[in-house]
Amino acid sequence: MPQRVLILGGGFGGISVARTLERLREPLDVTLVSRDNYGLFTPMLPEVSTGGIETRHIVQPIRAELRKTRFVLGEIESVDLARKCVRVHHPLLGVPSELCYDHLVLALGAVATTFGLPGVEERALQLKTLDDGIRLRNELIRMFELAEVAAGENERRRLLCFTIVGGGFTGVEAAGEVQEFVDSVASFYPGLRPSWVRVILLEGGPRLLPELPDSFGISARAMLQHRGVEVVTGDQVARADASGILLKSGRHIDCQLIVWSAGSRPTPQVRDLPVEHARNGAVVVEADLSVSSHPGVWALGDCAQVPKPDGGWYPPTAQHAIRQAPLLARNIVATVHGRPTKAFVYTSLGMMASLGHRQGVAEIMRGRMLTGFPAWFLWRTYYLLQLPGLDRKVRVALDWTLNLLFRRDIARLRISGELSPDREQAVAKEKPLPT
Ligand SMILES: Cc1cc2nc3c(=O)[nH]c(=O)nc-3n(C[C@H](O)[C@H](O)[C@H](O)COP(=O)(O)OP(=O)(O)OC[C@H]3O[C@@H](n4cnc5c(N)ncnc54)[C@H](O)[C@@H]3O)c2cc1C
Repeated sequence: MPQRVLILGGGFGGISVARTLERLREPLDVTLVSRDNYGLFTPMLPEVSTGGIETRHIVQPIRAELRKTRFVLGEIESVDLARKCVRVHHPLLGVPSELCYDHLVLALGAVATTFGLPGVEERALQLKTLDDGIRLRNELIRMFELAEVAAGENERRRLLCFTIVGGGFTGVEAAGEVQEFVDSVASFYPGLRPSWVRVILLEGGPRLLPELPDSFGISARAMLQHRGVEVVTGDQVARADASGILLKSGRHIDCQLIVWSAGSRPTPQVRDLPVEHARNGAVVVEADLSVSSHPGVWALGDCAQVPKPDGGWYPPTAQHAIRQAPLLARNIVATVHGRPTKAFVYTSLGMMASLGHRQGVAEIMRGRMLTGFPAWFLWRTYYLLQLPGLDRKVRVALDWTLNLLFRRDIARLRISGELSPDREQAVAKEKPLPT
C-alpha cells in the first residue's frame, strides 16, 4: 500500500508541497483538502479590493494545477493526531467525512485577529480572502454612494473617511491602493468635494513597515503622505463603534469604513493541536519542518514557526512558504525511504511593497533600499512572474495596461454576506462613543 500524504490547506504552502510530490514521481497517495477550490495570489489582493485587477485573475483553480493529487473540497473541522485522522465536512453539502494519513502536512495559513478589542471584530473589514477583497471594494463604493445623498457635511466627511489599521506590508499596500482608488473615482461624484475624502493609515508602533530597517518605513511614510494619505503612528485602537474609532490616546476618528490588517494568527484547528505552540499559536517545528512530538506530522507557511539556523524565526510570508514546500516534500520522501531529512535554510530575496500611483519601496540585496517608480516596477515585474499560469499573467498585465487608460470601475455588485438593510439600520442607530 502506498503511504498516504494528507495536505491541509490549498494556499502557497499546500499547493507547492503537492506540486513537488507530483514532480518527484514517488508512489505516494497524496490528497489535498481545502475550503476553496482555488489558490489565492494574496500579493495582488489589495489591487483586487480597489478594482485595479479583476477578481478572477488572481485565483488559480487547484484542480487545474494538480493533475495527480486527489483534491477534496472540504472545511477542516479537527485533527486527531492520536488516530491519525482529520475530520472534514463538505462546504456545499455539509456532509462530514474522515480522512486518515501516514504523513500530515499542516498548511492552513493564518486568520486575522482583532485581539478582542470592543467593536472591532463586528465593524472592521479584513483583507485576507477573496471575499474580503470583493467586500472592501463594494464598501468603498457604497460609502461614496451614501455620502452623495447624506445630509450635512459632517456626515459626508465621516462616510468618506477610510481608516486602515496596521502599518505592515498589507496595511501600507492597502492604504496606497485605497488612495489611488479614491483619486480615480472621486470625479464620478460631483456632489462631493475631494477635500472631504480622507485615507488614514494607523500603526500602533513608532513607524511603518516594522519588518524592515527604519529607513524603509520612513520612506514609505513620506511617499504615502505626499499622495494624501494621513499616517498616524504610535497610537493604538481602543475600540470601535458606529461613529468610528477611539484610540488609546483618547483621539477619536470619525469614520464608517475600517480595514483591519493589524494582526494574524493560525487557524483554530492548528491552535487546538496538542503540540508545542509559539506565542501566536503557530506550531513550532524542527529545522526540517517536522513536528518532533508526532512523527509523520509536518507544518509550513504561516501556521508554522520555523527556526533559523542562527537563532530567531523565519517570517510568515508567501516567499518563505513557497521555499519551504519543496524541502518538506523531499523530507517526507526521505522519511518514507528511511533516509535522513534536511534542514530549511533560506536567505530572503528581499521584501517589497507597492504604494499605488506607481510608487513602491523595496529591500534588495540584503538591506539596500529601492524607492519610488523603480521599486514599484520591480514589485510588478516580480509578482507578475510569480503569478501561476500564463493566462493569469496575461490577464493581469492587460488589467494594468487598461488602468493606464481608464478610471476605476464604480459598479457596485451585490454579494451575499453583506449587511442586510435591517442590520445597517441597527448599526446606524447605535449610540456613538463619548468623545
Ligand atoms: C493582502 C495580503 C498581501 C500579502 N502580500 C504578500 C507579499 O507581497 N509577499 C509575501 O511574501 N507574502 C504576502 N502575504 C502573505 C502571504 O499571503 C502568506 O504568507 C502566505 O499566504 C502563507 O502561505 P500558507 O500556505 O501558509 O497559507 P495560505 O496561503 O493562507 O493558505 C492556507 C489555505 O488553507 C485554507 N484553510 C484555512 N483553514 C481551513 C479550514 N479550516 N478548512 C479548509 N481549508 C482551510 C485556506 O482557505 C487557504 O487556502 C500577503 C498576505 C495578505 C493577506
